[in-house]
Amino acid sequence: MNIALIAHDKKKDDLVQFATAYKLTFAKHHLFATGTTGMRIQEATGLPITRFQSGPLGGDQQIGAMIAQNNMDAVFFFRDPLTAQPHEPDITALVRLCDVYSIPLATNMGTAELLIRGIDEGLLDWRKIVNEKSDENE
Ligand code: PGA
Repeated sequence: MNIALIAHDKKKDDLVQFATAYKLTFAKHHLFATGTTGMRIQEATGLPITRFQSGPLGGDQQIGAMIAQNNMDAVFFFRDPLTAQPHEPDITALVRLCDVYSIPLATNMGTAELLIRGIDEGLLDWRKIVNEKSDENE
């Protein structure tokens, strides 16, 4: 599975902690992240991560582009609802694309726990069928 990891500044510690706790599960998948989030997780866990631009410089949109190509299977996006983000339109666009493509999106630790356990138990295996179909169409 291709999994995206993003966290706003005040939520980065939470996502690092989460990725560390579920490192063995994340290690089985291909990870993508926005610049700073990816660096923090890489440093803490040693997991290989494909890092895009920092969020405000377009990283959210790069992840969005993968979703639009139906090339992303799950998104962990720890949002900070209490601080204004300069790239709010990009964030809204990313969330919107998850809804367009029915991509599971966890925006907080509570849902993230459910999503990662679901991934681990194979509950997202229907995405493999989607991925095989999109491979055939290429
Ligand atoms: P960052 O971007 O990981 O580069 O900080 C995340 C965001 O702000 O969307």
